[in-house]
Amino acid sequence: VTILGIESSCDDTAAAIIRDGVILSNVVAGQKVHEEYGGVVPELASRAHQQNIIPVVDRAIARAGIEKSDISAVAFTRGPGLLGSLLVGTSFAKGFSLAAGIPLIEVNHLQGHVLALFIKEKDGAYNPPKFPFLCLLVSGGNSQIILVRDYLDMEVIGQTIDDAAGEAFDKCAKVMGLPYPGGPHVDRLAKQGDPHRFNFAKPRISGLDYSFSGLKTSFLYFLRDNLKENENFIEENQADLCASLQFTIIDILLNKLKKAAKQTGVKEITVAGGVSANSGLRTALQENANKHGWNLIIPKFEYTMDNAAMIAITGYYKYLNGEFAGQDAVPFARTQL
Ligand code: ATP
Ligand code: FE
Repeated sequence: VTILGIESSCDDTAAAIIRDGVILSNVVAGQKVHEEYGGVVPELASRAHQQNIIPVVDRAIARAGIEKSDISAVAFTRGPGLLGSLLVGTSFAKGFSLAAGIPLIEVNHLQGHVLALFIKEKDGAYNPPKFPFLCLLVSGGNSQIILVRDYLDMEVIGQTIDDAAGEAFDKCAKVMGLPYPGGPHVDRLAKQGDPHRFNFAKPRISGLDYSFSGLKTSFLYFLRDNLKENENFIEENQADLCASLQFTIIDILLNKLKKAAKQTGVKEITVAGGVSANSGLRTALQENANKHGWNLIIPKFEYTMDNAAMIAITGYYKYLNGEFAGQDAVPFARTQL
């Protein structure tokens, strides 16, 4: 079974080919146009997707060393994401499916982030989690704890009631004058800083849900107050600010994850989404794994950021399950798992 996966939910146009769960190619075209705006501009994103989609798909097929006629089905991201961006991938996938006479498969982007853990490498490398497992999904738009019982059987047991973890990184980075997306910059600068130098407000919400908007506000007010005294406060303390901010975000993430592991009795722990690239988070997860006897599985870096391989692998499992979409499939800005 050979699946063409297409991802266009935000600002990356991506296509990938997966054959029987093994990755053959994974092509991502980023969009530079958003940098000067400090965030993704939806209208510019859909236009760039339109320009990128055909070359990206062509490249994915060429790099996989297959012919178009080898493809068994085309999987696309239906949502959640930016509607205009999703429309480009959805329409392309529908057209491709019609022209090639192959089935269409709709994929939930978040489910894709989780199933990225099941991508097999050509050289045979494969280290998937065992069911049931918990997945800490931390991305630009979501922060969730998901109980995964099977490939296509997932339950969100905790989620953010406001901002996502990635959003907290990006918004706080922006007020420090760092480029968008700020997460990787905070990560880099935090390495030279003292994580205990500054304290920021942590949310007090019960259960397994997250909240990050309070932290953002507390960070903003803290900077504003200090800038009144010293206009160079940010430049002089950049590393410590980044380290302390990152420490707080990780602490919030891990508290609820530990709680979830305790409540469910599940010790198979995984992480997904762009923020899982964060080096501080990876270290903290490993420390907790050692302490609590978790079996921790972290996906390869290239599969944690938005990519189409995760859409193709999800498409593969849906194909095996006979879950196909019709030409009437429409994108959704917000979808649940
Ligand atoms: P969603 O999947 O919820 O729709 P998204 O696709 O925009 O959101 P991803 O591409 O999975 O999100 O992740 C992007 C986010 O990851 C950004 O917020 C970015 O700042 C963050 N990020 C990437 N690398 C790091 C890092 N090293 N440290 C912290 N954050 C990071
Ligand atoms: Fe994503």
